[in-house]
Amino acid sequence: MRTAVYPGSFDPPTNGHIDIALRAAHIFDKLIISVSDNPSKSPLFAIEERMAMLQEIFKDHANVEIHTFDNLLIHYVKEIGAQAIVRGLRAVSDFEYELQMASFNAFLNEEIDTVFFMAKDENLFVSSSIIKEVALYGGDVSAKVHPAVWKLLREKVKIKSKR
Ligand code: ADP
Repeated sequence: MRTAVYPGSFDPPTNGHIDIALRAAHIFDKLIISVSDNPSKSPLFAIEERMAMLQEIFKDHANVEIHTFDNLLIHYVKEIGAQAIVRGLRAVSDFEYELQMASFNAFLNEEIDTVFFMAKDENLFVSSSIIKEVALYGGDVSAKVHPAVWKLLREKVKIKSKR
C-alpha cells in the first residue's frame, strides 16, 4: 500500500491543486490531502472551511482523504505511515522554495521522498493568492476553481466588502 501526503494551505483549493491531487491519486494507492493549520499565515478561509471544500471536491474519489496537521510535516508523514510527500511545480519561481523544502525534509528523514507533479497548461498559473486577489476586486474566477469554492469565495467577498 503506497500512501502519499499532499500538504498545503489550500486557501482556497484551486483547479491547480485539484489537477495535482488527481495525478497523485492515480499513481498512489491512497492520497491524503492535508491542510496545514498555520494561523500565522492569516488565511482567508478557516481550517474547517478549507477541509469542507476539499471534502466536497473529492467526495467521489475513494482513495483520497482530507486531513489537517499542525506539527512538523516530516513527523506527521511518518506518524501516519505514508511513504511520500506530493508537491506541485508551477513556474520556475516555485523551484527554489520547493527544492529547499524537499532537500531539508530528506535530511530530516531520508526514507520519505518528495514527488513533484506538474499541472496541465491551463492550470499552471493558477494560485490561491491570485484567485483571492481577483475575487476580492470583483473578478470572475469561476473557471479556475470548483463550484463549491466559488460559492464560498463569493460569500467571503461580500462579507469583506461590507466591512
Ligand atoms: P503552501 O502554503 O504549502 O505552498 P499551497 O496551497 O499554496 O500551500 O500549495 C500547495 C502545493 O500545491 C505547492 O507545492 C504548490 O506549488 C502546489 N500548487 C499550487 N497551485 C498549483 C498549480 N496551479 N500548479 C501546480 N502546483 C500547484
